[in-house]
Amino acid sequence: MPTLTLPAEGGCRCGRVRLKISAKPLLTMACHCTGCQSMSSSAYSLSAAIPSEGFEITKGEPVVGGLHGASKHYFCGYCMTWMFTRPEGIDWFVNLRPTMLDDHTWFAPFIETWTSEKLPWAATAAVHSYEALPSFEEYEPLVAEYAGIQG
Ligand SMILES: [Zn+2]
Ligand SMILES: [Zn+2]
Repeated sequence: MPTLTLPAEGGCRCGRVRLKISAKPLLTMACHCTGCQSMSSSAYSLSAAIPSEGFEITKGEPVVGGLHGASKHYFCGYCMTWMFTRPEGIDWFVNLRPTMLDDHTWFAPFIETWTSEKLPWAATAAVHSYEALPSFEEYEPLVAEYAGIQG
């Protein structure tokens, strides 16, 4: 299996916004919710939770899109690629769309969420599936388990 090499750089479809990560993901996810289906124009979204101190915009200025609600979804203002999300009330990690990274061949979702809303045929390689979201208490053991399989 390909592995993530740090630091790793990436950017939007047009290259006007570029970013760099220098920390491993805490968790990787696929989300089947209907909001993510709309935002991704696909069956589910992909996320890698990157610790904030290991996440940097190196070029350009992403703009807020989506519902403009409490969770902030960031896009390239020119090509409109959905790049990353800062979830409501959370500042210690950023949910990066892993396909922004120039090399994302290492990515696989460790958990999948909102399977209650998924398209009947949609399947992922996730190890853990949730009809909605994991409970707050479940995140710490999930992060520990994911760190263990990363070696
Ligand atoms: Zn762009
Ligand atoms: Zn979702």
